Amino acid sequence: MKDLIIRNLKNLPGKKTKRKIVVFYVDDYGSVRIKDKSAYNNLKSAGIPMDETRFSQYDTLADKEDFHKLFDVLTSVKDSQGNHACFTPLAIAANPDFEKIEASGFKEYYREPFTRTLQRYGPAYDGVYDLWKQGIDENIFYPAYHGTEHINVKRFMDALQGGIKSVHLAFKHESVAIPHFPEEMEIKQPTTTFFIEASEENKKLAEDVKFGTKLFEGLFGFRSKQFTPGAGIYSPALEPILAECGIKYIHVQRYFSYPLGKAYSEKNFYIMERKILKVKNILFAIVSLNLKAKMIIELPTNA
Ligand SMILES: [Zn+2]
Repeated sequence: MKDLIIRNLKNLPGKKTKRKIVVFYVDDYGSVRIKDKSAYNNLKSAGIPMDETRFSQYDTLADKEDFHKLFDVLTSVKDSQGNHACFTPLAIAANPDFEKIEASGFKEYYREPFTRTLQRYGPAYDGVYDLWKQGIDENIFYPAYHGTEHINVKRFMDALQGGIKSVHLAFKHESVAIPHFPEEMEIKQPTTTFFIEASEENKKLAEDVKFGTKLFEGLFGFRSKQFTPGAGIYSPALEPILAECGIKYIHVQRYFSYPLGKAYSEKNFYIMERKILKVKNILFAIVSLNLKAKMIIELPTNA
């Protein structure tokens, strides 16, 4: 009963519809995590606790077979209008260019479009980009922008430059954001692409957003209207840039702490939502129950 009340309370703000809609938001398409089974095995036998998280156990690029099986399922059903089920893959446009980063002596970060990653991954990935495009044409697989890459570039490069063993070992196997060796310090939230420790970092992230949304458009043939930040974190200072790049909606948890950089103390982190400020009290009550429902923020059109 308590759950039912909470669920209804949290849904009080926001738009209502009588239509029955099923939405599939699926994270991290296009992004590397663990390159393949052999990378997983090698990292595990080197002493990395790979089974600690489901990401290091299972997260890898979707191959041809994955797509065929997924499309079979999506096209096996229809709605009352005759439309098949549709996935919204929250897509990453690029991955680290491991070769170039290494060639720079780990001084510079380079990226490659995820389509280049697919090309390098071997025969199981032949034609996968065409399957993405086919899914878009058939309206069963319609991507939204999830970030330019799915790593926090600053933390990634700091770890490489700092000689962190587990990060270097993962790098050697073209993998990222793996668990650390038991004796090592943890790299905090390596997949929070848009987390900042100082407000100046937003300048670089703004450039990344411009680059990534443009790459997204070039790869898929349309601008993403939706932005779902990697790991659900972003700084509001990026909103004007996001709007400029065609983003109209931001999809995040109902509340989280904005990273605002060192200029702000932690107590200034605040619970967000622009359109429902009038019911702030209700939101605060819900927050105390630690709800994690997702919501969509609408950006002002003139932002
Ligand atoms: Zn993600």
